[in-house]
Amino acid sequence: MYAEKTGSCACGSVTFKVIAPSTYGACHCEMCRRWCGGIWMGVVCEEVVSITGTVIEWKSSKIASRGFCGDCGSSVWHKPRHTQKFTFGQGLFDDQSDWRLTRELFDELRPNHYALAERGQKAFTGWGTLWAALLGRLPR
Ligand SMILES: [Zn+2]
Ligand SMILES: [Zn+2]
Repeated sequence: MYAEKTGSCACGSVTFKVIAPSTYGACHCEMCRRWCGGIWMGVVCEEVVSITGTVIEWKSSKIASRGFCGDCGSSVWHKPRHTQKFTFGQGLFDDQSDWRLTRELFDELRPNHYALAERGQKAFTGWGTLWAALLGRLPR
């Protein structure tokens, strides 16, 4: 179910309004872990309605770039090059009720000292991870 949702970074200078689902994915890869200091949890947004503040884009690899707040450094979004869809950090959203973790990406790279509490989601590895990240939804 898509709806208009709002969010902001830690210092409040970046605020955004997006059309987004109520589901999100978690990524266990090393890049995400280092980029945000832990598990990256992202919401693949259908549309970015508006965004304020300074988001600095960083090309993190050949296939994707990431945006962070120019004032506080909060990890704001991730965007694969071959899609127009931005994945915003789930933790940035104002309303934290009624969300559902539906997929875990790069599960084979997950450090063995933790596991997510909710195990109803589907864990993807390898190419399945890229596919799930691009489409932001589960296979039917
Ligand atoms: Zn900020
Ligand atoms: Zn990742």
